[in-house]
Amino acid sequence: MNSRKIVILGGGTAGWMAANLIAKSWCDKDIRISVIESPDIGIIGVGEGSTPQFKAFMDFIEVPESEWMPKCNATYKNGIRFVNWSTRPGFEQYFHPFPAQPDDYSAPAFFHNSFVRRKGVDLEGHPDPFFLATYLAEQAKAPIAAENFPFEINYGYHFDSAKLGLLLAEKAKAFGVEHIQTRVRDVRKDTDGAIAALVCDAGQEVSGDIFIDCSGFSSLLMQKHLQVGFESFSNNLFNDSAVVLPTEQGNVIASETLSVARKHGWSWHIPLTNRIGNGYVYSSKYCDKDQAETELRAALGLLDSDVEARHLNMKVGQVKEHWHKNCVAIGLSQGFIEPLEATALHIVQETVQSFIECYQEQNFSCKGKDKHNQMMSQRYQAIRDYIVAHYRVNSRTDTPYWRDNANNNQLSKSLFDVLNTWVQGKNLSDELDRQDIDKYYPSVSWHCLLAGYGIYPEQHQLVAASQAANKHDLNQIREYIRRCALNFADHRTQLAHFTD
Ligand SMILES: Cc1cc2nc3c(=O)[nH]c(=O)nc-3n(C[C@H](O)[C@H](O)[C@H](O)COP(=O)(O)OP(=O)(O)OC[C@H]3O[C@@H](n4cnc5c(N)ncnc54)[C@H](O)[C@@H]3O)c2cc1C
Repeated sequence: MNSRKIVILGGGTAGWMAANLIAKSWCDKDIRISVIESPDIGIIGVGEGSTPQFKAFMDFIEVPESEWMPKCNATYKNGIRFVNWSTRPGFEQYFHPFPAQPDDYSAPAFFHNSFVRRKGVDLEGHPDPFFLATYLAEQAKAPIAAENFPFEINYGYHFDSAKLGLLLAEKAKAFGVEHIQTRVRDVRKDTDGAIAALVCDAGQEVSGDIFIDCSGFSSLLMQKHLQVGFESFSNNLFNDSAVVLPTEQGNVIASETLSVARKHGWSWHIPLTNRIGNGYVYSSKYCDKDQAETELRAALGLLDSDVEARHLNMKVGQVKEHWHKNCVAIGLSQGFIEPLEATALHIVQETVQSFIECYQEQNFSCKGKDKHNQMMSQRYQAIRDYIVAHYRVNSRTDTPYWRDNANNNQLSKSLFDVLNTWVQGKNLSDELDRQDIDKYYPSVSWHCLLAGYGIYPEQHQLVAASQAANKHDLNQIREYIRRCALNFADHRTQLAHFTD
């Protein structure tokens, strides 16, 4: 292979994650990497919750938790608690847990119960009693097991995104990545229309073989200069704005993200070691920025406070091609599915990994772009559908926002089939398998979502469970989870070990 030069435009989380992953993956190859960023433009500075995939990222670049977590005020995340998304009695809240190996014993009971309850039998169909992560979150415990508890536990993190960016920049530079601080003003193309060089301040040109666009929502290379189109998801994901406000951390550090449905959207509450990050994601079609800020301030007890709020716009959808000519879009420049399940950095990681695989497979050429584009587009659509389901199955009637979401019939065929399978009492795992979409969200996530909202026959329609239907002993499961949880420490105590 001849030498290659990869130019990454953007020093936000996406740019630095890409730089680290590429540098580490090809450390034995003759590949030079530069990251260009403009300190005047800055980064978006939100994006503080992760999926378990982020652990795989940090493990791959060999940065231990004991090093990065204290530097980024990071905490552990067992999953997400959804509050007030459903009004069905007994189902006003539920937890979406990250999977843990001990669930192998208890989850089958939940699958069984939710299946039988859909057929009209009165069994416990709420997901919460069946998952270890849910219990750990309820108890504000960290998902780090004592050494004598040898089971795999998946977990995510919460972190300060600005601090994470600085740390990742240091790591990438240690891998030999060049850091150029300047503003890109123009693009010089070759005769095929591919990018030959980025034209920066003072006319400085940075040339390369591959250009990675991590320029954020501006999508400077992909959408602006290469004119790649954008597929908006606004038809069935209405939210396009957010307002962000921090509050102080209390004595108990939660080990979960809290997601609370509000009048025209929902708010996140993300615990860091030094503060709680809060944000209200809403649709500007249904409420203006002052209304949104006032609603969030009221919820946080900040109506009389002079803590400044930040307002953001979001462009929800995906680019029509994630890799076009010699340019690959990664991060907000490639698209965004609103932050309800905190999937953006997960997608960043998957996109970089797919690029690495497709580029290398085709002998470091752009011939692998079609495969990459297909994989990324499918992933975006699958994640979008899981997020859309949260809105479509809501039972709130208090505002036009929620009623319009519940009446939204612009669903993809895939989501339509999933929801139909559930309400018709058929086997949901089989349907996800048939569509081959359980690799994006596993069956347990879909089950927790639909059961968590209480999408079952009404209570008066249910018949009492016979002994045959009631084949799992719920008390035994509760006791099993309680005893498993004895192997986990209080979250704050666990985090304190980093500074011992
Ligand atoms: C409200 C909200 C909540 C979110 N919550 C989550 C979450 O919980 N979890 C999650 O995973 N993700 C979340 N995200 C997404 C997450 O914030 C982003 O995916 C992540 O921060 C990566 O952003 P980025 O690097 O693509 O863009 P940015 O952070 O915007 O970085 C863009 C970079 O490009 C540079 N740049 C742009 N133009 C030029 C130019 N002309 N010359 C030089 N440099 C330039 C900028 O200086 C900057 O360095 C959220 C997003 C929003 C909007």
